[in-house]
Amino acid sequence: MSDEPRTHVQTVKSLLQKHAFHTKKQFGQNFLIDDRILTQIVAAAAVDKDTVVLEVGPGAGALTAHFAKQAAQVLAVEKDTSLKPVLDDVLAPYGNVHLHFADCLEIDLLELVKPYLSPGASLVFAANLPYYVTTPILFQVLEAGLPLARAVVMVQKEVADRMVASPGGKEYGVLSVGIQYRAKAKRLFTVPPSAFLPQPGVDSAVVLLDCTAPADVTVEDESLFFRVVRAAFSTRRKTLLNALANSFPIAKADCRDWITSAGIRPEARAETLGIGEFANLARQYPR
Ligand code: SAM
Repeated sequence: MSDEPRTHVQTVKSLLQKHAFHTKKQFGQNFLIDDRILTQIVAAAAVDKDTVVLEVGPGAGALTAHFAKQAAQVLAVEKDTSLKPVLDDVLAPYGNVHLHFADCLEIDLLELVKPYLSPGASLVFAANLPYYVTTPILFQVLEAGLPLARAVVMVQKEVADRMVASPGGKEYGVLSVGIQYRAKAKRLFTVPPSAFLPQPGVDSAVVLLDCTAPADVTVEDESLFFRVVRAAFSTRRKTLLNALANSFPIAKADCRDWITSAGIRPEARAETLGIGEFANLARQYPR
């Protein structure tokens, strides 16, 4: 196989022209035109005839069509209703694709998916996510109570780095903890701007989330856990003691006792703490 990207830019351009469709920046519309990348994403998702795929943002349907060939069902949620003629056209050959036009941030994804989940089916989330709203959509999906086996998402490269970052590095932060609390995250490959129409100004990367392997921690109060994580990272240059004392209505001396009782040095910085240590902090929170 040649190393040249197998783009089908003309096919996508003619399709959009046929339906007088113009891509909209405000919806983060950068459509994938590189067949090799599409194939790699579908391979990473490891779908088979027992898999139901939930896709957010099918766009012009390139990824959707690839999944339709391999999965049992594909459920695609698209916000831009003006894409309907394009999607109806491209997806006409596939009887197993179900289009739902809505803002995925405003719907109950579990209710939407339930009717398609027959016993024995596994659920995979896949998306080339719109960059302007990547993390809200990711968390909307991860927190919807869906029985997800895994997720394969294309995001801006810097976001991918933050999703998979380990403690100690400058990319490690609230996003890393939020993602890795729920899934084992692995960055698979980077994707250049030339793989899209129109081309974005940044590199992208594909991340695989194994949702069957969340962090091995016990968190009784998730909302407190995430309050602690956000507070700890709120002022990165400060010590944990100062960051937490700034954010919680607790006297500094009590804050020091709290951190020590969680087995952590009050002078530590948030970016050095593992998820287990954040969980300890939430557990030892003085009530
Ligand atoms: N999947 C297509 C591809 O790879 O070529 C399109 C990806 S494009 C980066 C993102 C898509 O998400 C667009 O079709 C856009 O209209 C849609 N979108 C943006 N915000 C959305 C939202 N809140 N809910 C559902 N779809 C959304």
